[in-house]
Amino acid sequence: SQIPNLTLNDGVAIPQFGFGVFQVPPAETAKAVTTAFELGYRHIDTAAIYGNEAEVGAAIAAAGIARDELFVTTKLWNGEQGYDSALRAFDVSAGKLGLDVVDLYLIHWPVPSRDRYVDSWRALVRLKEDGRVRSIGVSNFQPAHLRRLFDEVGVVPSVNQVELHPHLQQAALRAFHAEHGIVTEAWSPLAQGAVLDAPVLEKIAAAHGKTTAQVVLRWHIQLGNVVFPKSVTPSRIAENVDVFDFALSDAELASIATLERAERTGFDPDTMDLA
Ligand code: NAD
Repeated sequence: SQIPNLTLNDGVAIPQFGFGVFQVPPAETAKAVTTAFELGYRHIDTAAIYGNEAEVGAAIAAAGIARDELFVTTKLWNGEQGYDSALRAFDVSAGKLGLDVVDLYLIHWPVPSRDRYVDSWRALVRLKEDGRVRSIGVSNFQPAHLRRLFDEVGVVPSVNQVELHPHLQQAALRAFHAEHGIVTEAWSPLAQGAVLDAPVLEKIAAAHGKTTAQVVLRWHIQLGNVVFPKSVTPSRIAENVDVFDFALSDAELASIATLERAERTGFDPDTMDLA
């Protein structure tokens, strides 16, 4: 397909574009994932807390796509953090997905107030050593949290999946990732739709005969982010992946940079402690 791969710091290839299933109801998940597969998506981003791993697994089983063409990510929920509990939670997730080996396993949030993310990271390192996961990473980690993994465990995550969109461009965190060889995954790449009526984007979209959603997704791709926009609407699932036949100019990238507002749509990673 025309979806490029990036190479992670452990040599594993990750499709730069995929399908996210946060807030996709379980009853709609298998259908949405099947639609995505039919449209050429091969990378699925789920999490234990999304409650739809089994339905993602059902769509994978039904699709009959060669295992080495698929890339599946799931995440360790906050309440399962800790060494032994993380190992057990992984087995539950892999079982629901129907996979012997998961491509990428992430610590979903650092939850610094409970201070279990370093032990959880040791469990993910063990899962990789045991061949249960191909790559390991984190989500919503700030530089201070990442540094503790480097210093106390000595294994650098392959990715950090963080909120990132034109209203929260994360320039400093992206530079930190680049310095340490960590790939940036952008969650809520469209800010759940909140950025899509910006006049700056409408102007660029008109110039390319594309939609503003496509312009934003193309911006992520050119920045080097991994993205997995979510939709349950087949026409939007098709629209979102149709971003590999045009390119934004440097001037267009610069005008999108002006949309920065340091504005989160989701939780603050330093204080989020839901279990
Ligand atoms: P998103 O930015 O992908 O926005 C999805 C919403 O945008 C849709 O519900 C729809 O309303 C709208 N939309 C999608 N395509 C559109 C189009 N072409 N035109 C107009 N509107 C469109 O937000 P998201 O679902 O929050 O994020 C994507 C994925 O990121 C999730 O599914 C999940 O996999 C991941 N995620 C991870 C975390 C984390 O903490 N690690 C948090 C949130 C999301």
